[in-house]
Amino acid sequence: MGELEEHTQWGFETRAIHSGQAPDPTTGAVVTPISLSTTFAQEQVGRHRGYEYSRSGNPTRTAYETQVAALEGARHGLAFASGLAAEDNVLRLLAAGQRVLLGNDAYGGTFRLISKVHTQLAWSAVDLLDLDALARDWPDDTRLVWLETPTNPLLRCFDIEAICAIAHERGAIVCVDNTFATPFLQQPLSLGADVVVHSATKYLGGHSDVVGGFVALDDDGIAQRLRFTQNAAGAVPAPFDCYLTLRGVKTLAVRMERHCANARAVVDLLVGHPAVERVLYPQLPDHPGHAAATKQMRDFGGMVSFTLRAGRDAALRVAAGTELFTLGESLGAVESLIEHPGQMTHASAAGSPLEVPDNLVRLSVGIELAADLVADLAQALDHV
Ligand code: PLP
Repeated sequence: MGELEEHTQWGFETRAIHSGQAPDPTTGAVVTPISLSTTFAQEQVGRHRGYEYSRSGNPTRTAYETQVAALEGARHGLAFASGLAAEDNVLRLLAAGQRVLLGNDAYGGTFRLISKVHTQLAWSAVDLLDLDALARDWPDDTRLVWLETPTNPLLRCFDIEAICAIAHERGAIVCVDNTFATPFLQQPLSLGADVVVHSATKYLGGHSDVVGGFVALDDDGIAQRLRFTQNAAGAVPAPFDCYLTLRGVKTLAVRMERHCANARAVVDLLVGHPAVERVLYPQLPDHPGHAAATKQMRDFGGMVSFTLRAGRDAALRVAAGTELFTLGESLGAVESLIEHPGQMTHASAAGSPLEVPDNLVRLSVGIELAADLVADLAQALDHV
């Protein structure tokens, strides 16, 4: 057993609602209380009931950490104040001069964190679809492979199991950003990954009302180091944020099923529309990484990207021309969002190997009625 209780006998949906969330022993409350106390009474110096000070540990955070760790099939779960704070903690595992291999499509903020904040590290952006090249051109100083799958925003899918085999043979660990897939669709630790990170701001929270991050892992030694930095650097989420995310995660399975179904309806429209140049969605047989997605994911997710034949201005017009799809950053919540990655979420990757096409539009397909979403997008495309 890890430091958290495991509930492997329960299915995913049951763990989401019960892991870490037994009724409160003093009152019987079935909803996890929001523990606002920053400090906890001690019976004697150094003798307490598991909590001393809320940065180091908090009961609401423990419930949420137990819940999400159970969903990732992880022995350890650590919550952070944002996805980037979670990533920052993982990157601190490396010593100066060690190299991160980053897939050449990833969230722009991850690239900014590695290249502009962790300047003590070496990094290379590589095509993780080309496994032969990865094995052949492997830089010897690599200690960490960082991959998103599906990626933000091109939705490329990488073979987690194959990449882990290559990295482990060469003495590196693998961190998978599971934000887009969520543990409902894909469980990277079961495929050999060492560490999983999340922007909990997205599908885990699911309602665009909380910023958060999460790290899940099995290795006790790495977990101990991350737990130390979580406390020592202190980028922890507030109890209310833990409560909101825990509440969101309870419905993750049903939300993800609807996100995937709605995304399919939107993809059907886009594939047949004359204004659209290319649709990027892992279910499409010609999509980069379709085979990996089919192998390692339960379904293909709620994110859809596409390019416009008429170029950048057409992409900007579509992004501004919808009513139900709100023009905005972020993703993974109940309401649908549309954005232009080149000028919004991925502006920080401009001029880098991670730069995205300027005729690209990204959709976060929500859980509204599919027919309403399709009609909204169709009218915006018809006006391009
Ligand atoms: N990882 C991915 C795939 C993301 O899309 C994002 C944010 O958009 C992050 C990490 C960063 O998370 P946060 O915004 O919660 O710091």
